[in-house]
Amino acid sequence: MTDYIAPLEDMNFVINELAGLEELSKLPGFEHATDDLLDPILEEASRFASEVLSPTNVIGDQQGCRVEDGVVTVPAEFSDAYQLFVESGWQGLDCSQEYEGMGLPSLIGSATFEMWQSANLALSLCPMLNSGAVDTIELHATDELKQVYLPKLVSGEWTGTMDLTESQAGSDLAKVRVQAVPDGDHYRISGTKIFITWGDHEMTENVVHLVLARLPDAPEGVRGISLFLVPKFLVNEDGSLGDRNDVYATSVEHKLGIHASPTCVLNFGDNGGAVGYLIGKENRGLACMFTMMNLARLQVGIQGLAVSERAYQAARDFAKERVQGQVLGTHENARIIQHPDVRRMLMTMKSLIEAMRATSYVTASALDVAHHTEDADTRADALERSALLTPIVKGWMTEVAQELTAIGVQIHGGSGFIEETGVAQFVRDARILTIYEGTTGIQANDLVGRKILADSGLGMKRMLEDMAQLDAGLESCGPELESIRRAVSKGHKRLQEATDWLLDNAQKEPAVVHLAAFDYLMLAGTVIGAWQMARAAEVAHRKLASSEGSADFYKAKIITARFYAEEVLPRSAGHLEAITSEGNSAMQLPEDRF
Ligand SMILES: Cc1cc2nc3c(=O)[nH]c(=O)nc-3n(C[C@H](O)[C@H](O)[C@H](O)COP(=O)(O)OP(=O)(O)OC[C@H]3O[C@@H](n4cnc5c(N)ncnc54)[C@H](O)[C@@H]3O)c2cc1C
Repeated sequence: MTDYIAPLEDMNFVINELAGLEELSKLPGFEHATDDLLDPILEEASRFASEVLSPTNVIGDQQGCRVEDGVVTVPAEFSDAYQLFVESGWQGLDCSQEYEGMGLPSLIGSATFEMWQSANLALSLCPMLNSGAVDTIELHATDELKQVYLPKLVSGEWTGTMDLTESQAGSDLAKVRVQAVPDGDHYRISGTKIFITWGDHEMTENVVHLVLARLPDAPEGVRGISLFLVPKFLVNEDGSLGDRNDVYATSVEHKLGIHASPTCVLNFGDNGGAVGYLIGKENRGLACMFTMMNLARLQVGIQGLAVSERAYQAARDFAKERVQGQVLGTHENARIIQHPDVRRMLMTMKSLIEAMRATSYVTASALDVAHHTEDADTRADALERSALLTPIVKGWMTEVAQELTAIGVQIHGGSGFIEETGVAQFVRDARILTIYEGTTGIQANDLVGRKILADSGLGMKRMLEDMAQLDAGLESCGPELESIRRAVSKGHKRLQEATDWLLDNAQKEPAVVHLAAFDYLMLAGTVIGAWQMARAAEVAHRKLASSEGSADFYKAKIITARFYAEEVLPRSAGHLEAITSEGNSAMQLPEDRF
């Protein structure tokens, strides 16, 4: 099985040339986030991912996790790796310095996060959820809660969870029923949450749950949901751990993938009510939880990228070794990488991975700008851009991960279907990504409803204007980038046309717009990916012209961008046709004919 090696050259390129680290380091609070610091951080993270996290990946898949007498156990190797993660301070990389984090941009955090997820997705879900809890507490909790909980969560000594789902409340959080009853300076929480990732474990001495619950007199629906912090162990005034709180894992799910990530059923309040503390205002919990969900959506998109990268590395190495058939037009034995069809598959993986990396890091960078700039207009623009891109990163990238991990198996032939080669695990692990943190359908509805129709398409229009500005730069690069320029221009027109169609048809035929939402999401992802690859090709062209940096890397970047433009971007034509067909056939078939 191929060892994981972080694609540092591409990460570095995207961070510096496409996502604008230099600009970020001019913002207040990011002065220390310079290129000099980037290299050692990425190199050390790469070593940690390869040497510490990656060797535990198959162990976790094979051993899974279990619950006995209310105690959740994960493989011992996970605990050892996690302790090293905490000792190395990785959890706090992009957390505020006020709570002993390193205060680096989430752009840099995205690259280290990608490495953790490539190395071991099941284990790395734990720090992922923790980082969402940190952000939510920092933005919405009282100072008192911040002082008690943030330093321990930022260091990773305690971990955080996100507790939304109940059996009747999955995509539809309006149905949340867990109860919160006021009790002096706190609340008593009771009820059952299901599917809670890393909902309990023994890797740390405390687990801090962020729980959506409803007050007794709360209005129906999402306007009656509040957010509570519920620790596994209460914390004494001196900071030491006190009584065990009334929240217990009663089972862990047996799953298709991410076997060693404990997905818990959590019972709150079986013995009188778990102590919980309000975060934000009563009945305004969903707005606070959206901080956590938006970050998690970007992160789950990056999980799609990360598992695809891992599948690609295995497929590439296999294709360079496996001998089968003959080199086209000769009698020479071929390594399968010499077959055009295997080339097609590898290039599909490589080009989509690079497009996803650029798209998600650019989104992280927009979030950094939004949180650190002092200029109100710049903040508004960055917030708009990151909000628009988030459902695309989550929805499109996780759908693409299904395709790419499956191609990884295909390149391995029969060996890929056999568990021993390890590539089947990537398909199984990737399968959850389009489901949790909002299914693809929910992302598509969010994109079309909240991000396009709600602002009459203005945010998308501004992004399309930015995209159009690349045309002159590509043209000035001459014939080498001409096919990319033409393809991106077509993609731009398609996204424009699809957006206009949504705006024109939203009032007339709401069902048709919802039917089109998935194709619109995929069209937007495909075109934005092409835009980022075209930007990359333009930079590569200029670097080659001025003999800067690694010529091999830049030449490969241009070829990969051309492949994306010529072979991947045409998918956008199919999506556009499906969107604008105005067909309503899915809704016309009577239910009893299904
Ligand atoms: C391994 C795992 C880990 C998880 N971790 C967590 C966690 O840490 N915390 C947590 O709170 N939850 C967690 N979840 C729950 C997860 O977020 C939900 O499973 C997810 O939100 C979908 O809800 P559901 O399973 O009830 O599916 P449903 O909501 O019943 O959806 C079923 C199908 O119907 C579609 N659908 C539903 N509503 C709509 C709509 N309005 N428009 C269009 N289509 C719709 C969906 O797209 C989907 O295809 C986890 C789940 C799993 C399996």
